[in-house]
Amino acid sequence: MQSDRKYDIAVIYGDGIGPEVCAATVEVLKAATGAKQPLNFIEYPGGAGAYLKTGKALPDETYAGCLNADAILHGAAGLPNAVYADGTEVGMDFGLVLRAKLDLYANIRYSKLYPGTTSHLRYAKPGDIDYVVLRENVEGLYASRGGGVVLRDVAATDTLVVTREGTERIARMAFELARKRNGAPADGKRRVTVCDKANVLRSYAFFRKVCAGVAKEYPDVEVEYTYVDALSAFLVTRPSHYDVIVAENMFGDIISDLAAATVGGLGISPTAELGDTRGYFQAAHGSAPDIAGQGIANPLGTILSGVLMLEWLSEKHGDAYLAQVAGKIRNVIEKLLADGAVLTRDLGGTATTKEVTNAICSALK
Ligand code: ATP
Repeated sequence: MQSDRKYDIAVIYGDGIGPEVCAATVEVLKAATGAKQPLNFIEYPGGAGAYLKTGKALPDETYAGCLNADAILHGAAGLPNAVYADGTEVGMDFGLVLRAKLDLYANIRYSKLYPGTTSHLRYAKPGDIDYVVLRENVEGLYASRGGGVVLRDVAATDTLVVTREGTERIARMAFELARKRNGAPADGKRRVTVCDKANVLRSYAFFRKVCAGVAKEYPDVEVEYTYVDALSAFLVTRPSHYDVIVAENMFGDIISDLAAATVGGLGISPTAELGDTRGYFQAAHGSAPDIAGQGIANPLGTILSGVLMLEWLSEKHGDAYLAQVAGKIRNVIEKLLADGAVLTRDLGGTATTKEVTNAICSALK
């Protein structure tokens, strides 16, 4: 049944390929929702381009718009030449500040090998890879961005922050997520893998200890503990073993890009960044300045992030119609990949962003 609820979606197109993939997503979401149009898209500036114009990567009006919206959809932020005096990129402050201000503590990246998509792993077949990297999104090493110390140009430090509260809530989300899923492809077991470096740093040993405490509340879900270096190798050699991986911020950032490469690349991997009440959706990739403006970016990562947004809104508001629309878009994308007729260059095809978007929109109609 179709609800009459309308949802305000704050859309930040951003930098590089951001405007291209974000426009594709808005077009697909409009096509999928037909005459009813339950999504009201409101555009706001943000990212490196906004910084160059206004001095802020997250302008005040954009933050206010994000606060008022039902969900936030983002293209990508960052331009390699827009940097602070310390060498860090200004565009990063869009997402990092938004995450911190809205307390979007969970960064959820899905890695699934779809039929028709070739993995960079020689032996992987569709169905072999289907796991989630759940990255703690507001603490860890990145929490000290801007707060590090550079001493007389001879040494630099940043501080890794791990709190009990922050770790407990991300660990709990990992176990809850595992309960909803079907287990690891290899053996069907619901499994949470805690990714850390507990043998080297106290902060990671603490992260592991707190996760172990939460694991006791979930005896139906298997738990295991793996050092990040070993895990990086295992994600290549035995990806089917994994179901849900929970990691500190920086480790999660790194292994989720590795994960994306095993299922067709960054261009196809979606992300949901969630707090208790707010959701922010964007592809796993960055602004890809090397291919920006050429019309060849793969829009699927952002479109699938739009699908995650519909599913999240549907669950939050009990709106079955949005879940139905999400399922419809997902099916069309899976068929498009399986047919292999309209694939962008990163997936081994020659299609442009526009051709992929048009193919999805006409299949939806
Ligand atoms: P960030 O740190 O902001 O996540 P990054 O440094 O990881 O960014 P990306 O911008 O994600 O880098 O780009 C990495 C590589 O992947 C580039 O070669 C880029 O062209 C490619 N890439 C990223 N996104 C896409 C896409 N949607 N379609 C095709 N290629 C992409």
